[in-house]
Amino acid sequence: MNFQQTVFLQSAAKLSQLPKDIGIEIAFIGRSNAGKSSAINTITGIKHLARTSKTPGRTQLINLFEIEPDKRLADLPGYGFAKVPASVKKQWEQTINHYLAQRKSLKALILIMDSRHPLQATDWELIHWSDQIKLPLHILLTKCDKLTAAESRKTLASLHSQLKPYPLVTVQLFSAIDKTGCSQARKKVEDFLF
Ligand code: GDP
Repeated sequence: MNFQQTVFLQSAAKLSQLPKDIGIEIAFIGRSNAGKSSAINTITGIKHLARTSKTPGRTQLINLFEIEPDKRLADLPGYGFAKVPASVKKQWEQTINHYLAQRKSLKALILIMDSRHPLQATDWELIHWSDQIKLPLHILLTKCDKLTAAESRKTLASLHSQLKPYPLVTVQLFSAIDKTGCSQARKKVEDFLF
């Protein structure tokens, strides 16, 4: 699959603005600063692809990328900003909840977590939610270049053990810096798309 053909399609502030709900969509979601944009750029091999999502005013939007006709990546707004007003947080939750609940072409989630701070409260909410509706969820433990090999092994083992009750959840180490796990992540996205 040629990820390098991926292009920015559009942004959407609400579901009605999303492209037609056909084909297959894989959504990237995670706490702000966890490395979501870097992961999208690394997986597609296009350096500044996800930078669009960082444009001021676009951070609360769903950004869509098209890999080929009817195969899309969705970059969902980051969560967990410490000091956002409650109204902004509520808006985020509404947008995401609607998207996750209603988007028929959504076939899997890629959950981005900083490998040094995995499985925070909102991450668990997403895991429970995807488990309930039987949506596959793949976790990228990002920035693993900041861990020693022993810490990486320990983190991965701990996650495997905590996620055992969730058969549709998979997890891997990832680094946008040294490309650890890049081909594994690409393979996963491809599997979800076909
Ligand atoms: P987002 O807010 O989740 O989209 O996060 P970004 O992709 O913008 O990354 C947030 C910060 O973490 C930036 O300063 C990145 O350069 C850095 N970062 C992202 N991925 C990695 C990684 O794999 N390793 C290291 N060391 N830093 C990373």
